[in-house]
Amino acid sequence: MPLAAYDLTGRSAFVTGAAGGIGRASAVLLAEAGAAVHCADLDEKGLLETLGLITSAGGEAHTHPLDVTDRNQVRAAVSAAGELDILAAVAGIMHTSSVLETTDEDLDRVLSVNFKGVLYACQEVARTMVARSSAGSLITMASGAVDSASPGLLCYSAAKAAVVQLTKTLATELGPHGIRVNAVAPGWIRTPMTARHDSEQQHRAEATMARISPLGRVGEPDEVAHTVLHLAADASAFMTGQILRPNGGVAMP
Ligand code: NAD
Repeated sequence: MPLAAYDLTGRSAFVTGAAGGIGRASAVLLAEAGAAVHCADLDEKGLLETLGLITSAGGEAHTHPLDVTDRNQVRAAVSAAGELDILAAVAGIMHTSSVLETTDEDLDRVLSVNFKGVLYACQEVARTMVARSSAGSLITMASGAVDSASPGLLCYSAAKAAVVQLTKTLATELGPHGIRVNAVAPGWIRTPMTARHDSEQQHRAEATMARISPLGRVGEPDEVAHTVLHLAADASAFMTGQILRPNGGVAMP
């Protein structure tokens, strides 16, 4: 039985990026806290694995294969999910290219997934909350990359900076409706996203992040999921417009 302030029994959550990494860990933890979880992602196989993890632990989950860059798909899935109390907009992609080598296609793709994808989910879920005069919690996924500049990260960090601005702006607009909006800005977390760029440079970057962290290591998806749970639950009832940083004490260098 979770602590009352973390008990999500009777609530319903929509989680994008739920097929893996931080999104999956968040979906599983929200379900463990009692929420019925609607898992959305491009990756249908990964979604079914997340569904299995939740239901085999006795939780309730539903899958919504979709592309977060397609507003109509997001709207249809949110509508099919029914009454929602929580959104965790986690889906995102990594991209690296120097400013001089960045193409229009790079920029469009990264902004579409990492910014518009979050915007669409927030808009569609918040509209249903406002329409039924229901309080709720929207959680967006930013990154430690917004706190500093690194070579190659322009598209990614610009999209994440836009997510931060979306979060703060939405918090001012939705507060009067009882809807809280907060962002999570993780540091280096070991997920398929960070493993996918497996290279000597990647290993060096991970080792550097671990070395400069006061905790001496990089993070795990569960550790970000606990921040998501905190923001989803009544435990954070007086928090809105905030950026929480599960980053081991260090942002991106
Ligand atoms: P991941 O690659 O493991 O998971 C991302 C998920 O998003 C995948 O399941 C993928 O299929 C899904 N996705 C991608 N594009 C999509 C689209 N167009 N429509 C629907 N789903 C889509 O990555 P992760 O590390 O778990 O990252 C999750 C979020 O956390 C991302 O927004 C990422 O930018 C952010 N983040 C990650 C780290 C890290 O170190 N891993 C650090 C800071 C922020």
